[in-house]
Amino acid sequence: MGYVPGRFDRDGAEDMDRIAKTIFAPVYPVIARQIIEQCGFSRGRCLDIGSGPGSLGIALAQASDLAVTLLDSSPEMIAVAGGNVREAGLSARVALLSGDVHEIPLPDGSVDLAVSRGSLFFWEDLPRAFSEIHRVLAPGGKTYVGGGFGTAELRDAIAATMERANPEWRSFRDRNLGTDNRERVAGILADLGFCHRLVSDDSGFWIVMEKER
Ligand code: SAM
Repeated sequence: MGYVPGRFDRDGAEDMDRIAKTIFAPVYPVIARQIIEQCGFSRGRCLDIGSGPGSLGIALAQASDLAVTLLDSSPEMIAVAGGNVREAGLSARVALLSGDVHEIPLPDGSVDLAVSRGSLFFWEDLPRAFSEIHRVLAPGGKTYVGGGFGTAELRDAIAATMERANPEWRSFRDRNLGTDNRERVAGILADLGFCHRLVSDDSGFWIVMEKER
């Protein structure tokens, strides 16, 4: 079965896992390094929201001393992520959590670094999702939430491969990462009034929020 954006059942989880381990594989260590550089965290509690098979959270755990929790609303994705965590030998430092970003099953102030790649395009209520993320952040905690491929070279190589398999893929990507959506998300963040800055460059589109101390 070919990868279909937005399908998060068992087939969708297996397809996402397959592309995360092949076509998308080089992206995660690059983005993990960018997160550590941009946010300045290499230890503490990290939450990977909409983790899918867990590739970003696992890359972050491998590149740092962070204790990572993988959160996803799809139990099938969490099941696949569990296998990947065990395979990476990271069960002591990477935990699994089923749940929705709109109602994160964690206490206030329990996360130092909240990351998310490629998931926010599926969130139904962005103001509520970002308010929940802000709630679980500890004072001084940061986010790196958005989408992208790390570099222009990776983005273009992945686009060429993905488009061969699914001609719709580029329009899906352009809808999510295009100027209109970046401006829409920027407007929502401005209205919420949380302290943040936007990274909008060849690495992708990322929201770096910082919770007041
Ligand atoms: N972050 C992974 C990556 O970059 O490889 C997976 C990205 S996948 C395109 C999007 C993921 O977001 C899916 O695993 C999906 O189940 C999850 N997701 C979608 N809506 C969600 C929500 N409301 N709360 C938590 N996870 C959600």
